[in-house]
Amino acid sequence: MSIQYKTIKELSLMLKSKQISNSELMVETFDLVDKYKDLNAFITLNKENALLKAKELDDNPLDLSLSGIPIAQKDLFVTKGLRTTCGSNMLSNFIPPYSATVIENLEQAGCISIGKTNMDEFAMGSSNETSFYGNVYNPWGNDLVPGGSSGGSAAAVAAGIVSGATGTDTGGSIRQPASLCGITGIKPTYGRISRWGMIAFASSLDQAGPIARSAEDCAILMNEMCSHDLKDTTSLDEDIPDFTANIDAPIQGLRIGLVKEFDLSKLDSAVVKVFEDAKKHYESLGAEFVEVSLPNINLSVPTYYVVAPAECSSNLSRFDGVRYGKRCDNPKDLEDLYIRSRSEGFGDEVKRRILIGSYVLSAGFYDAYYKKAQQVRRLIKNDFDNAFDKVDLIMSPTTRGTAFEAGSMNDPIQMYLEDLFTVPANLAGLPGISIPSGFVDGKPLGLQLIGNSLQESQLLNVAHNFQMTSDWHLKTPSSEIK
Ligand code: GLN
Repeated sequence: MSIQYKTIKELSLMLKSKQISNSELMVETFDLVDKYKDLNAFITLNKENALLKAKELDDNPLDLSLSGIPIAQKDLFVTKGLRTTCGSNMLSNFIPPYSATVIENLEQAGCISIGKTNMDEFAMGSSNETSFYGNVYNPWGNDLVPGGSSGGSAAAVAAGIVSGATGTDTGGSIRQPASLCGITGIKPTYGRISRWGMIAFASSLDQAGPIARSAEDCAILMNEMCSHDLKDTTSLDEDIPDFTANIDAPIQGLRIGLVKEFDLSKLDSAVVKVFEDAKKHYESLGAEFVEVSLPNINLSVPTYYVVAPAECSSNLSRFDGVRYGKRCDNPKDLEDLYIRSRSEGFGDEVKRRILIGSYVLSAGFYDAYYKKAQQVRRLIKNDFDNAFDKVDLIMSPTTRGTAFEAGSMNDPIQMYLEDLFTVPANLAGLPGISIPSGFVDGKPLGLQLIGNSLQESQLLNVAHNFQMTSDWHLKTPSSEIK
């Protein structure tokens, strides 16, 4: 029986009932990696080690919740002894001496990391075209982008190579690729999952989360990924529920907010239809829709593109050719070492962000840009707080449209607008999930649900209700493509 497109739940059952051994599962997984190598979803494979771990499990079975489940790890999480590039030339030779907490948590639960997935350089991008290691392609169509920045993870799950993968979401990088690849991804509340060992892009926005084939599988992964971590001072010291416990609960009487300020009439009518159909679907499940006003929400993209570059310019200053990462050949002096190492190590998008960030943080412009953006960020958070007095969660499309062709979106501002519906949740630190909700011209499209702080269980429950009564998440791309 093929393992392609199986969920974590199904694979666990197959392993437990001995329909398949851990080693067989791992061999088949790497066969799929090979079959889909043109997707360019992986930067570094962990094949030898993964096969060894699978064999060890066959020899000495362990009763762990995710025992033997192959997982693809975004190349932004440091992995002890396994090259971690963050999609950049800067780190092309970086072998970390320790592993991120998320990686450790998943491996302690029995997961086997099969490799590091391709991504936009330092997680900056929405199409996976900024990776030093080449574009990633979307299994739903030749030349389509998978979204970004967690594009390799999303493509690997959408192609059915792995049932689950890790992603990170600073402005939408879990939800946007999930939408474009027809799979499910959740960005938890800021601080739910430790950022220890995540290579920082914009520290006040970055949050890790799972990408999988269903909300239920996301819940299963969340159970292991979340932890209170003393090594990360922003890690939340809150109870971590069993995210699967109430996932089946009915949603009768749920109040879902629709944001008045999101003008959907600007979107393609087929995209709006997918959204309207999802609304009707939720109504049929007993949910009620309420219009909510978030007066500052349309300032989210400009606010994000001040705050995120500011933090990135500070975070990326550590890559100086001295401590780790790329060092230029034969530097003349220290300044030459800095300049050439950084010029050669970073790609264009990263340089653009560092320039913007340095500018908005400079003494003469700090008040006008960075300080102002932080103030607007607070207003956006207040808007959400007010909305959540009236509704349980908020629903919107995840993206403005479906996957586009690689090379077709050349204007960086247009690319930044890919995050229109996703960045507000990051600015407010709130959890958001994207679930498959339909197709336009044969390409998948996601629906976004944003919850109040720490309400991931509710989001997963509401998403699971949709998936119990629809089959969009069960669709798979034709294996003929790519
Ligand atoms: N697309 C956004 C950006 O380029 C978000 C990226 C992310 O969430 N890592 O910054």
